Amino acid sequence: MRSLVLLSSVSVLTLAACGEPEIAMEVTEFGDYQIMPEGTEACFEGEMSPSLRDVCVLSSDVMEGRLVGTEANARARDYLLARYEAIGVEPVGESFVHAFEFERPVDFRNPDAGRETLTGYNIIGRIPGADSSKVMAVTAHYDHVGPGENNEIFNGADDNASGVGGMLAVAQHFIDNPPAHDVVIIAFDAEEGGLNGARAFVDNPPEGLAPVTFNFNLDMLGYSPDGNIWAAGSYHTPGLLPVIEAVAADAPITLEAGYDFPTGDPREDWTLLSDHGPFHVAGIPFVYLGVEDHEHYHRPSDEFGIIEPEFYNGVIATSIDLAERFDEGLSEMDLSPREPEPVEPKDG
Ligand SMILES: [Zn+2]
Repeated sequence: MRSLVLLSSVSVLTLAACGEPEIAMEVTEFGDYQIMPEGTEACFEGEMSPSLRDVCVLSSDVMEGRLVGTEANARARDYLLARYEAIGVEPVGESFVHAFEFERPVDFRNPDAGRETLTGYNIIGRIPGADSSKVMAVTAHYDHVGPGENNEIFNGADDNASGVGGMLAVAQHFIDNPPAHDVVIIAFDAEEGGLNGARAFVDNPPEGLAPVTFNFNLDMLGYSPDGNIWAAGSYHTPGLLPVIEAVAADAPITLEAGYDFPTGDPREDWTLLSDHGPFHVAGIPFVYLGVEDHEHYHRPSDEFGIIEPEFYNGVIATSIDLAERFDEGLSEMDLSPREPEPVEPKDG
């Protein structure tokens, strides 16, 4: 794929990893880190952080809301493949692209409409650490809900182009600062409507990778009217709380631990709400970083324009700090699960 960057400045690219449908996409080379898919030129004008540029490109109208199984989803994937390649992460196995099949209702509103089998594509990269016996999985889903009934585009800037931008920034950090333990970078597909990419990975991890010790999942990092972001997961793994609190003490934005107490209400307990869910169910400790739901959630208005650069860049710096400390502490941190509450014996 490196040849991608060395091709003449404007080229028509036919990209196809193993088993993937071929698509044609006009790209332009831009600096060391980027390809500029046709229709995203505006993202390359003016100064912005690489993460913000990732959000801009992935939430552009040409990505049509990145619905699984569509050409637009494949366009987003090809942009990410070029980013993985340029950042320098290694493929796991022959390719970065790991296909999986999953079933879903043809129409979520009408169960009688039957079910269909689709193919999704996770993008998996690895950054070797000094100790490969433990693995931290840094994850973010790159798909979104696609176009609406009237073909209005659900651009998915915050959900979840922002998380993908954060994940790539963490990858770049560990390429520049080799980690203490192996880090696997996973852009999950088909999170919308069932966490399907994460389920496929947890149920059937690729060969050549030690079992994942800890999951750091990023989903919706870019818009928070009250300027704070939440880290869920320490209720289940109390040994993580001191790390979160230590990072929060120096963070440029307000970082709080929470949204993981088992109330049974998914609006209050995010334990199973994004790709960290299948890791948790498999007994793998996690921290999920995300903002509270907002007025743009799963709306066409979730566009690049709502992403607040100062807040978002602050979240990126905080994500890198968290990832660095999770990696450093992976062998020392107490990752044992919370002791179940003692059941009070019933009277009589
Ligand atoms: Zn999401």
